[in-house]
Order: sequence, then C-alpha cells, then structure tokens
Amino acid sequence: MDYMIFLTAYIGAIIFVFGAVIGSFLNVLIYRLPIGMDFKKGNSICPNCEHKLNWKDLFPLFSWIFLGGKCRYCKAPISKQYPIVEALNGAAYVLSYVFLCGGEGLEGLNLKLAGYMIVMSALIVVSWIDFKHQIIPDSMWIAILVGGILVVGDALITGEFSKSWIISRVIGFFAVSGLFFIIALVSGGRAMGGGDIKLMAAVGFVLGWKAVIIALFMSAVLGVIFSVGRKLIAKKEMKGVIPFGPFLAMASAICAFVGEPIFNAYLNMFNIYI
Ligand SMILES: [Zn+2]
Repeated sequence: MDYMIFLTAYIGAIIFVFGAVIGSFLNVLIYRLPIGMDFKKGNSICPNCEHKLNWKDLFPLFSWIFLGGKCRYCKAPISKQYPIVEALNGAAYVLSYVFLCGGEGLEGLNLKLAGYMIVMSALIVVSWIDFKHQIIPDSMWIAILVGGILVVGDALITGEFSKSWIISRVIGFFAVSGLFFIIALVSGGRAMGGGDIKLMAAVGFVLGWKAVIIALFMSAVLGVIFSVGRKLIAKKEMKGVIPFGPFLAMASAICAFVGEPIFNAYLNMFNIYI
C-alpha cells in the first residue's frame, strides 16, 4: 500500500481512539453538568447499583460491547448513549482531520484540528443535554468560541487568514444569533432562549456566515423529520415541546463540513435560473 495512505489511515485510527476516550469524558459531562455535579471529582459509579467502576468498565466502546450493554455487577442495562457518544466523537475527530484540516499523514495535525475537536465535542454535548434537559450550559458555547479562536490562530500561522476570512466570521457571529435575538425580543423570550442565541453566535464565529445560515435551515429540516418520525413511531400525539437546540447543534456539526459547499451550490443554482 502507498506509504502516505497507510500513514493517514494509521493516524486516523489513533485519532478515532483518542476521540472515543474523550467521548467517555463527554458522557460524564452530559450526566453531571445539568445536575451541577463537579465533573472533576469522584469515581464513576453505576447509576443503578452504585458500584465503583474501574478502567475495565470504562474502556470506550469495547466495555459496552463486551459487557453486552449491561453493568458487570448488577446486570442493569447501560444506556446506549455511552457507546453512541464515544463513537460519534471518534468519528467527528477523524472527519475533522481528513476534511477540515487536509489530513494527509502528519499534515492536518495542527492547531485547527485541536480547535475543531473542541467544537465538535461541545456540539455533541449540547445536542444531548439540551434534548434531555432543555438547557445549553454556558461552558459549552464558551468552549466553541475557544475552539474558534484556535482556528483563527491556525489561520494566522498558516497565512490562510485574510480580511474577508475574518469578516465572514464576524458576520457569522451575528447572522443567526441576531435573528434569534430579535425573535426573543419580539416574543418576550418565549419563542427563543438565551442559550440558542449564544450557541449560534459561537457557532457562527467558527463556521462563518454562509455555513451558519445553512445550519439554521438544516436544523429546521432535521427538527421536522424528527417530529414526524416520532409521531409515526408513537402513533399518537406526543406531549411536550421539542427543543430546537439539539437540531441546531447537530446541523452546526454537519455544516462545518458541508455548509459552505451547499451555500455556494445554492447560489450557482440561483444564477442559472434567474
Ligand atoms: Zn450496576
């Protein structure tokens, strides 16, 4: 096999494992952040039998698979959330390396990758916590901004940075968040929460204005698909509002990869038909 392809695949595999390990930490955040528990302290325990978990029980993905999705001590089922978050985070890191940072061998192991890793992980945590608890912790949109600052730092180092490059991000900061802010003002805060505004400001700064606008449309589509799907599965009207934040976060993660190409493709189409 071509040496470069081998090296890229090898580094990709390491990045996936690293992402899965960070993913198991994200599971801790998802569990502890909403209840205000200190995520730095204490051992992990089984939520059912409260048995302390050791490294064999916490090994990302593999523990869950080998234990058949059950606690080793009390056999209570362990939520699928754990392996899903670990696998998602691993996959998001590999995709960031390959598609956002031009991953080819050692190329792509840069500040930009570190930035996007933080952004992806924060978006995964936001999706989960907002879905379960209807809150977006401040620490998460701040993490996304920090990731964005790393991406800016990388652009300064590599020379990708330009006036239009940074202007796109400054406009991105306000593009969707500004719209949300107006909706919040008009509705007296009922139709739009502060968490969504701050989330989309940080996301817009990372993605730029084109991709964040596509993320807004995509989140609406995802939300509709989800509520229709839920109705079909439940076969009756479900109670409770569906929070918008999880779809915003998911669409933002997807649009980091495809947002600008979709925006440009749409403009091209527009030019042809008008
Ligand atoms: Zn247990």
